[in-house]
Amino acid sequence: MPTKKIKPKAIIHASELLTGAGIRAKDGRRILEEDTGRIEDGAIVYSDKIEWVGKTRDLPRKYARAPKRDLKGQRAVIPGLVDCHTHLVFAGDRSEEFAARCGGASYEEIAARGGGIVSTVKATRAAGAAELETLAVARLREAMAFGVTAIEIKSGYGLSFESEIKILEVIKRLKKRFSRMTIKATFMGAHAFPAEQSRESYLRDIMTRMLPEIAQRELADACDVFVDRGYYTIEEGRAVLSRARELGFGIKMHADELADTGSAAVAAGLGALSADHLLKVNDDGIRALAASDTVAVLLPGTAFYLKASHAPARKLIDAGAAVALSTDFNPGTCMTLSLPSVMTIAALYLGMTRSELLAAVTYNAAKALGLHARKGTLEAGLDADFAVLPFRKFEEMYYRFAWSAVRGPSALS
Ligand SMILES: [Zn+2]
Repeated sequence: MPTKKIKPKAIIHASELLTGAGIRAKDGRRILEEDTGRIEDGAIVYSDKIEWVGKTRDLPRKYARAPKRDLKGQRAVIPGLVDCHTHLVFAGDRSEEFAARCGGASYEEIAARGGGIVSTVKATRAAGAAELETLAVARLREAMAFGVTAIEIKSGYGLSFESEIKILEVIKRLKKRFSRMTIKATFMGAHAFPAEQSRESYLRDIMTRMLPEIAQRELADACDVFVDRGYYTIEEGRAVLSRARELGFGIKMHADELADTGSAAVAAGLGALSADHLLKVNDDGIRALAASDTVAVLLPGTAFYLKASHAPARKLIDAGAAVALSTDFNPGTCMTLSLPSVMTIAALYLGMTRSELLAAVTYNAAKALGLHARKGTLEAGLDADFAVLPFRKFEEMYYRFAWSAVRGPSALS
């Protein structure tokens, strides 16, 4: 079948263009300022992929007649942001719960009033697929306005065969609807345990009903388990993820968030794409992640929102781990889609540098989704996923904290 050749377009006179080429060359580890590949007065030529990147004055002659967008030295261009950990499909409203928590209510009191994850599960089960899709569409548009060109969405507020499948079907429709954005679906039935079923029978459902059905219908790309104190044990996590791996899914783990369970090292040992949260990760876990291809996904918006102590980002980075940042967007512990705000928290409280922040929201986040072969840096031949910022310099993205996406970057691809 002949493919229609897309005519190249150019963006010229970017105040700065960060290619991130050095980040790719170092596989996202021990990133320094020179790895950002900064080009002053930069230009990019793209069709269905990136054709050329360089200084505006070096634009090759063959692109002389390509349509051009002139940024007049006022806006920066960076690789499209990748939000690699979200729980974006849910219904219900927990704003009152947040207000009560800020007013001093304990989790037990909130749970006794019917709040917490149980309330989101109830609302998500009750919602129709169309309603869930409408809610998710508005959220995805918000993420795009911040410059996000690829995003991961987890299921996990269904906690039953029917409702987990319903959520994954919604994500599948979102993939079709958002053709300019890359969406990765992650099955996370093992997010909690449903109230109406025994632990054993729910686990059996995940292994023998949900995973095979999801694999057969290609409803998810990866599988994630919440391995932590009070949630799934290491043994249960290992069983679910091993089964998922056999069925061809990528695997991920919510690891060492509430307690040091040693789960980060287990995730690395299983060959997981990522181990996420890591607030309580121990030195063995840090070493295991650094020696593996498993990306350490940090979610400092969640620690901020819960007033918890932050993950040891410096230790992870200095040990040689590839560190990514994500929003963890969810209604209970991090109600924001602003990846730039998460970068502000990471800059201030995790001690991450400008170049480490760039790597964390682009190449390393793409790697956490298995997308890094084609995304995460701006180099000829790769996908044309980039963001034109409303600022002259990349660091203004997190220097101006909590800026509104309404006047935000246009994600072009
Ligand atoms: Zn999460």
